[in-house]
Amino acid sequence: MDTAVVGSRPTKSVLTNSGGRRRPSQAEAEAAVRTLIEWAGDDPDREGLAGTPERVVRAYEEFFAGYNEDPVALLATTFEETTAYDEMIVLRDIRLESHCEHHIVPILGKAHIGYLPSGRVVGISKLARLVEVFAKRMQLQEALTSQIADTIPEVLKLADNIQELLEPRGVGVVIEAAHQCMTTRGIRKPGVSMVTSRMLGCFRDDPTTRREFLAMIGSPRSGSNGA
Ligand SMILES: [Zn+2]
Repeated sequence: MDTAVVGSRPTKSVLTNSGGRRRPSQAEAEAAVRTLIEWAGDDPDREGLAGTPERVVRAYEEFFAGYNEDPVALLATTFEETTAYDEMIVLRDIRLESHCEHHIVPILGKAHIGYLPSGRVVGISKLARLVEVFAKRMQLQEALTSQIADTIPEVLKLADNIQELLEPRGVGVVIEAAHQCMTTRGIRKPGVSMVTSRMLGCFRDDPTTRREFLAMIGSPRSGSNGA
């Protein structure tokens, strides 16, 4: 599947949050949930639903915690220097939980990240955190894929405060995920998963590198053609 992603660097609006809008109070957010319960046809005052607006608002804090984190700052201090390792580093099957920005229902799947370091490596657990920071926002799978990929060279560059540029030679990100807005509503297609990919540097330009990456992640069924 082609990804519809273009562009290279993450923009500032991607890295921070909602552009300085006033955040509603918790009471306002709970009132909005009450309204949605009524809209759905139920009584927000009945016993079972009494605590629901508060619980939903707390769940939102968890689902969307990524707006409060700067992925670059998160990773910038975690690099390690290595001269001994210049082979591909792959982290596969990273659990992915996000929410689609069209319906605010779950997107569940896996992310796979690979890169070819050139002197700097990012700790593996930090790559999983990077996925989480972007996933815990309202997302499109294509945008999520490219935000993760585009941030990795940015981080490795920032980590380097001397002049020498030590960007990775290439980065690849593949996401396979099922969208509950497709499986539980609308066209109702259970079992369908969407595969998106973003390839940078030699992952994009060198078919051998790309093949090696796709082989290491156990090449998703529908395959990916990169950019
Ligand atoms: Zn959706």
